[in-house]
This record gives sequence, structure tokens and C-alpha cells, in this order.
Amino acid sequence: MKEKKIILTGDRPTGCLHIGHYVGSLRRRVELQDNPEYARRFVFIADAQALTDNIENPEKVRQNVIEVALDYLGAGLDPEKNTIFIQSQIPELTELTFYYMDMVTVARLQRNPTVKTEIQMRNFESSIPVGFFTYPISQAADITAFKATTVPVGEDQEPMLEQTREIVRRFNYIYGDTLVEPNILLPDSEASRRLPGTDGKAKMSKSLGNCIYLSDTEEDVNKKVKGMYTDPTHLKVSDPGKLEGNTVFTYLDAFCKPEHFERYWKDYTNLDELKAHYTRGGLGDVKVKKFLTAILQEVLTPIRERRKMYEKDIPSVYEMLKKGSESARETAAQTLDEVRRAMKINYFDDMDLIREQAKKYAQK
Ligand code: ATP
Ligand code: MG
Repeated sequence: MKEKKIILTGDRPTGCLHIGHYVGSLRRRVELQDNPEYARRFVFIADAQALTDNIENPEKVRQNVIEVALDYLGAGLDPEKNTIFIQSQIPELTELTFYYMDMVTVARLQRNPTVKTEIQMRNFESSIPVGFFTYPISQAADITAFKATTVPVGEDQEPMLEQTREIVRRFNYIYGDTLVEPNILLPDSEASRRLPGTDGKAKMSKSLGNCIYLSDTEEDVNKKVKGMYTDPTHLKVSDPGKLEGNTVFTYLDAFCKPEHFERYWKDYTNLDELKAHYTRGGLGDVKVKKFLTAILQEVLTPIRERRKMYEKDIPSVYEMLKKGSESARETAAQTLDEVRRAMKINYFDDMDLIREQAKKYAQK
């Protein structure tokens, strides 16, 4: 029988989740929760990782843990099908990170393009916290502690997955087959792999304030789409429009399905027809934005409503996180037992070792 696969993904509690998270990872997690190929699904709130660049702001991280949990539930993640947990509650992850640190060089970490960009974004320059610099190692621990085979994430996570695979190979080479090499599961469309911000900047990101949040009100969404970056040279309706770098069209690439035309814009039957008209000229941004708004509202309204339902019973959301954390810890503890054995640091449960040493000294 084919071994069943295991999913693991997470998000940093640095703010509410946005539609970039949704298309980059969350949508896929919801799709996969009924797929029988997967034995377990772990979803976690990376509070310890969020602290690596928010160490002076613990309250921000603490407040956002519940926001992310509500976004998960709102998006349709079922806690019966997913083990939802909080990273800091699993001390085994810290232990594993510490061991992995010996398997990665500083030079290797410095080459990570995502971390490089993030350091620039945060103006860290020469004051990079060690924990932030090494977070790709802690991500390797998060993934491998659960023997995850599949990590559904956006493109920014590719270097992290590569780093994880290297650590796994190195570990297994030195200590024998113990860890599992994970695969990245990227979204199907280019647009969803790295959704740009409403300002047209390369990535929608909590830290850049260019987001449409899953918890935004209907009016917020309307307003944000109205103000979105399009093609700055498309001044008159009759002008031909550009698609490249046009955020409205990138969002349509990520969200639009043919049935949306059936429902909201019968003038076209698919996105290619709409794009052709736009590039030919004679189609204004306002109309395209109205169409995008209708689609986003269709996706976001049920999420918003489900979220509101869970907001009414916050203690049970914390209870769910607690149960998830306990269950996740059991799995991580099992892996750590195997890791300690492989690394020969399991002194007290290795009776052979104790006997051997006793014999050695008895003979002296
Ligand atoms: P921060 O700015 O605090 O790093 P973030 O918005 O980058 O926050 P993360 O918590 O780092 O969000 O990312 C969580 C998950 O969401 C990852 O799988 C990441 O690939 C995905 N993701 C985040 N932003 C986008 C985006 N704009 N497009 C596609 N996927 C995204
Ligand atoms: Mg990020």
C-alpha cells in the first residue's frame, strides 16, 4: 500500500490573513481536507517565528493568534480534519531547531533570497536578530517534526523548502534514515503563487499594508478595489490597456472562473475574451473593477459570515487550539524520540549503552 501523505503549513500571527494567503495556501488546504491521500493535516500559527522580528511587540503577536485562528475557521478549515496548533506550545520544535543549526552554514543562510528581501524590507541591515536570520532552520524543524510530505505554500517559501530538504538529506546521511523530505505544493496559477498588493507592489503582505483581508467588510473590499493599481497609461476608455503588472487582472487570474461571467458579466464568456477587449481598447477600468468586486464578494462573504459565527464563542476557539496543540505535541515528541536515538543522545533509554559502560568499568 502506498504510504499516505502528511500536510503541514502555517502562518505568522502578525496580522489578519489576506487574500494572498487565501490563494497562496489557504484555498488549497481547504480543498485537500477531504482528500483521502492524506493521513494527517497540520496547520499552525507561527507565533515563535513572528516574535523573531517582533520581539519588542509581544502583544501584537498575542492578539493576532486568535485573528489567524478565526480566519482559518472562517475560510472553512475544519478542526476535525486538521490539527490546528500554536507553534510555541510545542517545545520539541525548539529542540529540533537547535540540532539542525549544526547542519547549516552561515553562508548558506545568507544566500536565501526570501530572507534577503525581508531583511531589506525591515531595515535590519547590520542589526538582524539571530532568530530572524535563522528562521529557515526553525521552519525545517516545523516541517520535519511532523514528517510532512506536502507543504502547500506560496512561492516565497520555495527557498525554505529547499533548505529543509538539504537538512533532511544531511541528517539522514549522518544519522541514518530518520526524517522525511517534504515537497512544496505551489498554487496552479502564476498569479496565486505571489499575489501582488493592491498598490501593485510585488507581494501582498501584512507588513506592507497593501492587503485585502478575509475579515474586511463589504464596504472595505469595494473601496480597496476602487483604489487599486491598474495600468497608469490607460487614461481614456478608448486607450488600449496593458495587462502586464495590472493588478486588477492579476487578481482576476487568481480568482475568476468562467461561471463568474455567466453570473456577473454576460458580455464575455471567459477571461481571455475580456483581456482581448481591454488590450484592444474601449474598455474602462471601472467596469473591470466592478466585475472583480463581485467575484471577491462572492468568495469573501461566506468566509466573513462563518468567521462572525466563531467570533461569538472565543473560549471554544482557544479550546480547539489547545486540543490541537496537545495532539501535535504527541506527534512531534515521537519524532524527537527517533531523532535523539539517531543522534545518540538518548542516554537513559539505551540499556545497552549503560550495560556496556558498566561492563567496561567492571573489567578495569
Ligand atoms: P509577514 O509580512 O508577517 O511575513 P505575510 O503576509 O508574508 O506576513 P506569512 O505568514 O509570512 O504572510 O505567509 C503565510 C503563507 O501565506 C505562506 O504560505 C506564504 O507563501 C503565503 N502567502 C503570503 N503572502 C502571499 C501572497 N501575497 N501571495 C501568495 N501567497 C502568499
Ligand atoms: Mg512572510
